[in-house]
Amino acid sequence: MIKNSAVEMAKALSSNEISSVELTQAHLDQISKVDTDVHAFLHVDSEGALAQARDVDARRKAGEKLAPLAGVPLALKDVLVQKGIPTTCGSKMLEGWRPPYDSTVVSRLKDNGIIILGKTNMDEFAMGSSTENSAYGPTHNPWDLARIPGGSGGGSSAALAAFEAPLAIGTDTGGSIRQPAAVTGTVGVKPTYGGVSRYGLVAFSSSLDQAGPCARTVLDAAYLHEAIGGYDRMDSTSINAPIPPVVEAAKNGNVKGMTIGVIKELQGDGYQPGVLKLFNQSLELLASLGAEIVEVSCKYFDYALAAYYLIAPSECSSNLARFDAMRYGIRVGEGSAEEVMSATRQQGFGREVKRRIILGTYALSSGYYDAYYGSAQKVRTLISRDFEAAFAKADVLVSPTAPTTAFKIGEKANDPIAMYLNDIATIPTNLAGIGGMSIPSGLAEEDGLPAGFQIMAPAMKDDRMYQVGSALEAALLSKWGKPILDNAPSLGAR
Ligand code: GLN
Repeated sequence: MIKNSAVEMAKALSSNEISSVELTQAHLDQISKVDTDVHAFLHVDSEGALAQARDVDARRKAGEKLAPLAGVPLALKDVLVQKGIPTTCGSKMLEGWRPPYDSTVVSRLKDNGIIILGKTNMDEFAMGSSTENSAYGPTHNPWDLARIPGGSGGGSSAALAAFEAPLAIGTDTGGSIRQPAAVTGTVGVKPTYGGVSRYGLVAFSSSLDQAGPCARTVLDAAYLHEAIGGYDRMDSTSINAPIPPVVEAAKNGNVKGMTIGVIKELQGDGYQPGVLKLFNQSLELLASLGAEIVEVSCKYFDYALAAYYLIAPSECSSNLARFDAMRYGIRVGEGSAEEVMSATRQQGFGREVKRRIILGTYALSSGYYDAYYGSAQKVRTLISRDFEAAFAKADVLVSPTAPTTAFKIGEKANDPIAMYLNDIATIPTNLAGIGGMSIPSGLAEEDGLPAGFQIMAPAMKDDRMYQVGSALEAALLSKWGKPILDNAPSLGAR
């Protein structure tokens, strides 16, 4: 059962073939078997998960009408707060902190009867592309334990690929849902900015951060999107409009008569040939299904990475000022408030987080503000205009999700620029606030590792990504004859 989709599990639950307690226990057993190798989880809440499962089972037995995913387990990225459950954001800074409230994503998961198994590993405060920046050690890619599972949400994507959970929540500031999905052969969706509440999501870069669904199928992601999405008055940037009809779109995957725009700037130099080959094969499939493929140019995308690495660190330097040794987490040293604050931040934050705080503080300082932060904001506007012009020619835009397959743990750890380049294709959507989805496109011929196909849609047209994603997913599945994860090596007793 653990290899099934969440929708299949939900069906088995509603027909009483299996109870939620049994299903939850099966996943907890898998976690015990494989997580010493994978290290997807920072905290497993067995008791809480089983208690929640018992409650769902009792309500089902009493004849209550339950939400579609009720009783199905999920893994939660450790950047979203859950009342009473340790939340570290992958940082020593928050070690031992138990939040006094639920994030909106967590309350909605609970309202939907979705079982929260535990908190997943991540790059510290979501800064990174490999999960190597976690203060608690890296997560290993189930396809090859010597490789990274992507980041920052590598724990969530690895949990899916190792069958430790059928559903997971990620957050995506510059690619942290989509790039991990790409390198683990799973599905990840960054909804339109404002589509899922940020209340209780520990802020990295508030104008870019967005929580979203991670799963092994497009339809599973759609159901999860519907469960967590929608307006929330606790988030001032939440969009007050109905959730786009993502489940309906995923059920009716179809590209006939659609125009699909291939972004010229997101291919070529720096992209692994095998990744590009899979991308082009997917385009051919889409054309054979009746889509018209056109090329579009977004010339300001060449500046997206530079703009991102000014805007995100600037917001981070301001957001992370709250970790002052007075309010949350650890406190180190003695003496004046300034001495304690300085000693705590020195010990509590890792290298990458410090690098971003220093970069951001510099970019925001008087005399440099206009040259750096101001220019980056202008580039952001130009990128949004590039997208607008491209969407005038195409219903959705596509690209490879990440330029390469999973690299080796340690390979890029000392080269921040090489690490930053992983997100070259995912960052533009965050800057523009639009949605992006990654689905597996196959296994690259050089290394047999999974690659991702990215689909982008205009703001609040998230349903288009699901429509195209499920059509392509179905076509690829019939070509392969089996799900991509069936090719991954067995771990533990799997
Ligand atoms: N890898 C990017 C960064 O380090 C994106 C991270 C994210 O989306 N949270 O900033």
